[in-house]
Amino acid sequence: MDHIDVNIVLTDRGAVDCDYKAEHSGGLRRLLAVIIFVKQKIIGFDKDDEGHWRARLECGHYRHVRHDPPLTKREWVLTEMGRRNKIGAVLECRKCDEDSPADF
Ligand SMILES: [Zn+2]
Repeated sequence: MDHIDVNIVLTDRGAVDCDYKAEHSGGLRRLLAVIIFVKQKIIGFDKDDEGHWRARLECGHYRHVRHDPPLTKREWVLTEMGRRNKIGAVLECRKCDEDSPADF
C-alpha cells in the first residue's frame, strides 16, 4: 500500500491550507483533497451605499458583515466596541479565491 501525505501552505495571497492525501491499495485509488478558503484579517469597517456594514480585509477586499436577523445575527457589528473587538479576526475571503480585483 502506497500512502502519500502532502501538506501545502501558500502564503502569497494570505493563507491557504491544502491537505492532499493519496492512498493506493489493492487497485483502489482514493484521492482526498481538502481546501480551506483563503482567510484574511479584518483591518476595519465601513458602510456600503445602502448602509450595510462591511469589513475591510487585509487583502483589499470588502466582505459584508450584515446584522440581518433571523438569517444572520451579528449584534456586535452594530456597536463601535463590537466592531473594534473584531479587528484582527479572520474571515474567509471568497473574492481572493476567485482572484477578484481589490475593492479599495
Ligand atoms: Zn480577499
